[in-house]
Amino acid sequence: MNEVAVVQQGGALSVAQIKQREYKIQWQREMRRRFASKHGYSTASYYATGRLRAQVLRRDDYKCVRCGMTDPEHKTEWGRPITIDHKDKNRKNNALENLQTLCLRCHGNKDLIYRLRWPKALSHRGEIMARRAAGQTYQAIADAVGLSIAVVWKWIQLWGKERA
Ligand SMILES: [Zn+2]
Repeated sequence: MNEVAVVQQGGALSVAQIKQREYKIQWQREMRRRFASKHGYSTASYYATGRLRAQVLRRDDYKCVRCGMTDPEHKTEWGRPITIDHKDKNRKNNALENLQTLCLRCHGNKDLIYRLRWPKALSHRGEIMARRAAGQTYQAIADAVGLSIAVVWKWIQLWGKERA
C-alpha cells in the first residue's frame, strides 16, 4: 500500500498508522473469537440482546419457553446455543420482559422474516435442497448461501412438504 494512499477526514495516514490499524483489527478479531469459544455465542448476539442474554437464559431455566428444549439439547441438534428472541420483533427493545429463550424451530415458526427473503431463498432452492440431501447442517447451508439458519430451516420444511 502506498504510504499516503489512505486518506481519511484527518488527512493521509502514515505507514505506522496503517500498521497500527491492521493490528487493532486483528486484535479485535481475536477477542471476538475468544469470547465465542468461552461463551458459546458471538459478541454480536451478546450485544443484540443488550447484554442480557445470560440473565434471560437463567430466568427461562435454559429452556425454550415454547417447547422446553434445553440449551444442551439445542447444541446437539443445531450445533449452536439456544437463541434469544425479541417478542415484539424490535431488536432495539432490550427490556428483560421483551426477551425470551427460544429454540431455532420455535423461533423460525414465530418470525415471518423468511417471507421477506423469499426471492433470495427461491434463487437458492436447488442448492439448499441439494446441500441438505447431502447431509449438511442447517448452519453450514445458511453460511454457504448467506441466509439465516432460521430462514433456511423454514424453507426446507416448506419445500419438503411440497414434494411429499
Ligand atoms: Zn422450541
